[in-house]
Amino acid sequence: MEFITNHPSEEVLEQYLFGSLPEPEAEGVEEHLLVCHSCIDSAEQLLAFMQSLRSTFIGKPKVRRAGGTLQER
Ligand SMILES: [Zn+2]
Repeated sequence: MEFITNHPSEEVLEQYLFGSLPEPEAEGVEEHLLVCHSCIDSAEQLLAFMQSLRSTFIGKPKVRRAGGTLQER
């Protein structure tokens, strides 16, 4: 399985996760992820990072805090 050594770069992974990677490449990445655990790990880390970025950009999540400690009086 020589193709395992051909890891996609972080940029390529990112584009793949965003769904902005053109199809032949995306297919290659997908196949690679099936066999390469270290790339799955970095893909998951990228995903978590992207999600934290997204919640930063969107702003306040619409989740009520339990306890209501936000009131100051
Ligand atoms: Zn890999």
